[in-house]
Amino acid sequence: MTALALASACNQVASTGAGDATAANARTVSSVDPSAAFDPLQARTLRQHLVSSLISRGDLQPGRVADAMRAVPRHAFVPEAPLDEAYADSPLPIGFGQTISQPAVVAIMTQALGLSGGERVLEIGTGSGYQAAILGVLAREVYSIELVPELARRSSKRLADLGYANVHVRSGDGYLGWPERAPFDCILVTAAPPAVPQTLLDQLEEAGVLVAPVGASPFEQELLRYRKAEGGFRVDDLGPVAFVPMVRTGADPRPTAEQPPHL
Ligand code: SAH
Repeated sequence: MTALALASACNQVASTGAGDATAANARTVSSVDPSAAFDPLQARTLRQHLVSSLISRGDLQPGRVADAMRAVPRHAFVPEAPLDEAYADSPLPIGFGQTISQPAVVAIMTQALGLSGGERVLEIGTGSGYQAAILGVLAREVYSIELVPELARRSSKRLADLGYANVHVRSGDGYLGWPERAPFDCILVTAAPPAVPQTLLDQLEEAGVLVAPVGASPFEQELLRYRKAEGGFRVDDLGPVAFVPMVRTGADPRPTAEQPPHL
């Protein structure tokens, strides 16, 4: 079965590569589902299993976020990884010392935003672009900032190639936010600052929600959710997580927000 599939795939590459596609070949190729090339059945099956296991472990509830995680091809954001690793519940390296987050953490953070479809969302730490794509499925517009220019370039191209036209990526320092596009209904920070940057809280809409892993330890931080209400913030602690640090470039001279007293 595998050998046959491999052989026919090789044949197709050989005939296309030689530039001798016949009319019959051309018809065969054009009748193929264009999504099958980058999202083969095996990937879709592994993705269903991953989502089912996140649901059965209680990290994900059936609903919009689960549907988005079934729809977004995670393997396309980690092109170097074998399919089974792309659909394991673990973080993976994406180069430049950075990682794509563990699917369970993506599920928990995304659910914590409570998106219903009309929101404008800011993400800090585009990385591979996977989390941004999930947000793109669930919200109206997504703005995502990545410090490493090459990661920003790659994820921006990948998101465009995959058709996530409402996701906008720029290279820059997330401590500054994206003032030209502020205020945002939701802000998702996917690198860990020692405390939540005041600039990001300022760019949040009234009644908006910010979710961030917060803490100075490189090994463990607390996932905090801030809700803006009546000139202040309500803060929930959603539990421990482990993220790469949100790197300070010194571009933002403003202090980080004070840690809420009850935490
Ligand atoms: N959301 C990503 C994973 C984030 S990994 C995904 O779905 O793949 C954290 C990312 O934050 C890294 O790519 C890192 O380069 C970036 N980062 C770190 N400090 C930053 C800063 N100050 N501003 C913007 N991005 C930052």
